[in-house]
Amino acid sequence: MKIIVVGATHAGTFATQQILTAHPDYDVTVYERNDTVSFLSCGIALWVGGHVSDPNKMFYSSPEALTALGATMRMQHEVTSINADTRTISVTDLATGAQLTDTYDKLVFTPGSSPIVPPLPGIKSLKLFLCKDWKDAKRLQENADSVRSAVVIGAGYIGAELAEQYALAGKQVTLIDALPRVLAKNFDQSITDRVEALYRAHGTHLALGEKVTGFEDTADGITVTTDKSTFTADIAVLAIGFRPATTLLKDQVDMLPNGAILTDDYMRTSRPEIFVAGDSAAVHYNPTGKSDYIPLATNAVRQGMLIGQNIEVATEAYLGTQATSAVELFGHCIAASGLTQEGAKARGVAAASVEIEEPYRPEFMTSTTNVLASLTYDPATRRVLGGAFYSQHDVSMSANVISMAIQTQMTIDQLAMVDFFFQPNFDQPLSWISSVALAAKARADQA
Ligand SMILES: Cc1cc2nc3c(=O)[nH]c(=O)nc-3n(C[C@H](O)[C@H](O)[C@H](O)COP(=O)(O)OP(=O)(O)OC[C@H]3O[C@@H](n4cnc5c(N)ncnc54)[C@H](O)[C@@H]3O)c2cc1C
Repeated sequence: MKIIVVGATHAGTFATQQILTAHPDYDVTVYERNDTVSFLSCGIALWVGGHVSDPNKMFYSSPEALTALGATMRMQHEVTSINADTRTISVTDLATGAQLTDTYDKLVFTPGSSPIVPPLPGIKSLKLFLCKDWKDAKRLQENADSVRSAVVIGAGYIGAELAEQYALAGKQVTLIDALPRVLAKNFDQSITDRVEALYRAHGTHLALGEKVTGFEDTADGITVTTDKSTFTADIAVLAIGFRPATTLLKDQVDMLPNGAILTDDYMRTSRPEIFVAGDSAAVHYNPTGKSDYIPLATNAVRQGMLIGQNIEVATEAYLGTQATSAVELFGHCIAASGLTQEGAKARGVAAASVEIEEPYRPEFMTSTTNVLASLTYDPATRRVLGGAFYSQHDVSMSANVISMAIQTQMTIDQLAMVDFFFQPNFDQPLSWISSVALAAKARADQA
């Protein structure tokens, strides 16, 4: 069986590992345009902030490791076209410029996503940075010490984390977003109000509800213009989201309108010999039961492994995702799984939500701190649809609990009665998850 893998960060690396572990006799060729595989971009902001022990440890595999498993690694090779009818690909060797073609029995399509770069005036400025891959990471890190001020555009997870690290390093930071709140797509306002207060307390200027219209280099920096104001800094960083990098298969397989490729439960596209995983793929979003685009490493890794499981015969189905995620900002843990109230509204899903705030462990302890917890549920079926947590205590694993509740279609009533332990070092007789579920139950009973 001849397999071609296009792209090897997370989805491609995991697929290659799993395919060759299950089928050491397969002929697997990996085409990757970079000279590395498996870069953990989630470490970029931490590296910029000086929290990474060794940047080489931001890779968990290598071309050599995949070669040792039996793969033929074609690094610095870019796939330039795919003909799904003839099962042929065209490739450019980026080191020599040579053109070649190759054929496959099955194609593993894992070229991920590309940062959104709008065609604005000045967009090609060398003082404008992106934050996606190893090359971007090195540029950002090399400039981290010399930069005194930065404008970060995009207050999603990536922009939020970079802005935090710059602020903690004492730089003058402006964080811009077209939406009216930071992390607006991840959390409801009660949490984002607190996060915004943290940024302001650390001297970050928040320019929310402002849309960037252009860039202009100055003698020693860059000016970012929005529809409301202008900001000048040493550098600007653009982190406004990602698009699936799927043009090579355009009109050849079924896609969502944004280009994310649709799959069945076994990661097969509408052409069953083509598999897709990671940021190029749509996900089955369990809270709505619909296909959605949620580019996360967690999805890429699991879907990549599933390709390996299913490449010969469809055996193991994808369970879908709740988009479970967490971030640490200014010493606070902020974590969520599933729908927020606003996310439900945006997707036309009927949802109710409750919120509680209480000390995470008993007040007789010499120290404790509050946890703010919210739970979103379907008022008709009482099923859990989402949950979010904010605290100085590490409450990140609560998001995983909510993820399991959504995955298993638990109701708020069942979640309220799950057997969670109590021990005063860790929680209250009723843990904060039980409490918020009981609050939801009480609200639903009144409705
Ligand atoms: C700064 C940052 C922080 C993040 N933090 C988190 C986090 O904390 N948790 C989390 O779950 N997710 C996080 N993510 C998201 C996560 O990194 C992505 O979901 C993940 O990288 C997707 O993996 P992938 O393999 O599908 O695609 P990609 O990472 O996009 O990799 C695709 C690979 O394909 C190669 N390629 C593309 N086109 C071609 C071609 N034509 N020919 C050959 N090779 C090609 C590319 O060079 C690349 O190596 C973060 C992302 C960023 C940018």
